[in-house]
Amino acid sequence: MPVSVKLLIGCAVVGASFLASTAGQADGYNPEALKSGRADPSMHLQQGSDQREAQKINDVIYKATGFGNTFMVVTGEGNVIIDTSLPSMAPRHKALLTAVSDAPIHSIILTHGHGDHTGGVALWQEAQTQVIAQQNSVEFLAYQKRFNGLFIQRNAAQFGFDLAGSTDAVKLENTGANLQPNQLFDQRMQFTLGAQQFELIHTPAETYDALTVWMPQYKAAFVGDLFYRSFPNIYTLRGTKPRWALDYIDSINRVLALEPEILLPSHGEPIMGAAAIRADLIRYRAAIQYVHDETVKGMNAGRDVYALMGEIKLPAELDIGEAYGWVSWSVRGIYEGYMGWFDGQPVTMYDQSPQSVYGDLVRLAGGAEAVAAVAQQQMNDKQLVKALRLIEAALEAEPNNKVALTMRLQILTALRKASGNLNESGWLNYGIKQTERQLAD
Ligand SMILES: [Zn+2]
Repeated sequence: MPVSVKLLIGCAVVGASFLASTAGQADGYNPEALKSGRADPSMHLQQGSDQREAQKINDVIYKATGFGNTFMVVTGEGNVIIDTSLPSMAPRHKALLTAVSDAPIHSIILTHGHGDHTGGVALWQEAQTQVIAQQNSVEFLAYQKRFNGLFIQRNAAQFGFDLAGSTDAVKLENTGANLQPNQLFDQRMQFTLGAQQFELIHTPAETYDALTVWMPQYKAAFVGDLFYRSFPNIYTLRGTKPRWALDYIDSINRVLALEPEILLPSHGEPIMGAAAIRADLIRYRAAIQYVHDETVKGMNAGRDVYALMGEIKLPAELDIGEAYGWVSWSVRGIYEGYMGWFDGQPVTMYDQSPQSVYGDLVRLAGGAEAVAAVAQQQMNDKQLVKALRLIEAALEAEPNNKVALTMRLQILTALRKASGNLNESGWLNYGIKQTERQLAD
């Protein structure tokens, strides 16, 4: 396990009083993390670890690279920090950026309340520093805090952290948020510092507290997680309130209207040049619009959610990659975001799960191993997910059946090998570890 992961978990345990616990953290995507081969969910935590000096964007803007970049704007009246990365990365970022300028920190601007953006606030904040966020962050931070216990476990699974030995971290805390921002705004906020102009614009998308920082003198837009190099996580597997596809569209339009010449996402590399930025943003917006509209069309035609998850694919000209968010998860996120959980089948109104009858069906079929034999056939036919469904049923009937557990391990490993998606890989790794533990018992 990389050192940074241990540090991160350490911070999450110790820093329970601070908003940058692991609640809601690490929700972004950095394409460089995947370059060396198949997605490894812990690789993103190594992002930028070989950086020796801060990246100079222009005369006043500097960037420290990480899973969650940190930006610094140097002004004659103190510096402005935009996003602060994860707790484990913030010390390195601070060292790189203060090597450029160690002037007082006038402001910290948080593009949103996820932990990979707020993790270094405590490190950077000085007595006079104002911490600026969009006003929805009050509610958003309270939400993350309310589900701290659950988010810690789900982030650990999704991103490959080891929670062993840190049981304090998984205690459910329901004490409300510790408010860090001391400057809040609704739609827009402006200030000038040492001749540098800052305009903050509400651009909700991945979260409803998201903002864009606009520096008109340089036509530079710091967009947080509104744009990264993959289809966005309109739903994230670790759990989220609905994320509204049409918010992404509106917010991208707000950024496009600024006609930026420098685009600075909080994950990945800057994009330079008005034409390149415009082309990227328009394609990103079109991909989201397409998935949204196809989902709505399918819903109105009475299609069920699984059918649409399988059918809706990005056309080639809108294929912006699915290394972080999968389109099918977003389809389901949009579907259930709009309509909730009821699928129109009378049986779904009641409190018996589909799994509650698996035992009967498996017994009728001749037991877990008979079902595993059918799963094997599905595997041979490359129907890995159907095979996994059958094995889940077999294990519902006989949870410790070694044949079924071994096959579960094989299927999950095959899926893992085929996956180039960060989040999918994380959950498959989680399942693999879980099954290995059961087999060892
Ligand atoms: Zn992020």
